[in-house]
Amino acid sequence: MIVALAFSLVACGESGGDKASGNADSQTIKIAYLPITHSLAVLEEVKELQAEDGIQIELVKYGSWPELLDALNTNRVDGASVLIELAMKSKQEGIGLKAVALGHKDGNVLIVSNDIDKVEDLKGKTFAIPHRQSSHNILLNDALAKGGLTVDDINITELAPTEMPSALASGTIDGYCVAEPFGAMGVSLGAGKVLYSSEELWEDSLCCGLVLTDQFIEEHPDETKQFVEGYKKAGANLNKEKAKEVAKEYLNQTDEVLDISLQWISYDNLDITKETYDTLVEKVKAYGLSDTPPSYEEFVLQ
Ligand code: ZN
Repeated sequence: MIVALAFSLVACGESGGDKASGNADSQTIKIAYLPITHSLAVLEEVKELQAEDGIQIELVKYGSWPELLDALNTNRVDGASVLIELAMKSKQEGIGLKAVALGHKDGNVLIVSNDIDKVEDLKGKTFAIPHRQSSHNILLNDALAKGGLTVDDINITELAPTEMPSALASGTIDGYCVAEPFGAMGVSLGAGKVLYSSEELWEDSLCCGLVLTDQFIEEHPDETKQFVEGYKKAGANLNKEKAKEVAKEYLNQTDEVLDISLQWISYDNLDITKETYDTLVEKVKAYGLSDTPPSYEEFVLQ
């Protein structure tokens, strides 16, 4: 109980400076996020909506996916920018939520130590992913398949994203795949290099999704529409310069790390299409993340 309380205090204390406007009629929507480049579209939307009279966003920052997920699954927030597989798992377990948009397009890399030249060299090595329920796990499986390997040929460890670059530098792990900019950080440190980018392994890959709770969607249908439209517009506005500007404000990363990382990602057209979602579902089943992921109709807000 004490630990849980401490987490929630930290989360509240760290929420961004993004309060509702003085207008008592405006609706505030509480969105959980991690300080990663994959959540920049919602951070940009906060800035854009601040200048408007309607819906306002209160950001709640978390330090890890389990903490963020706990807040989402217990309705302490109205929505989140979250790994889509984690949200699918929550949905499968009966949590009322829907995905309303993608977090980003592409934007993941497999980082390996400098002595690894091809995926076959990973045999018997240790590779880190943030969570079993992640596109990073899927991308690892896709990469191994290219070399005729499976996850049984390597050691997989789950690490917090922030720990991965230093774990690679110290030789504790031999590679990792995780939300950005932590891949770019490994490159910037000289600890490793890019073995594959996500689009080389999985065209139109899905990774993060923007999700809202069913409760918010049902109680605030107009605000939901306004929020989702504003989000997609904010994503479309995120060219490289703007993305870097927002990232510098929220992510506390160096210019070099952001310049490396932002080459790999884009934020335009964040609709979740049935075709790309169905490909994700196939991979989730094939690689053993889940036998019964939710269907497109169940999971994605129509
Ligand atoms: Zn992502």
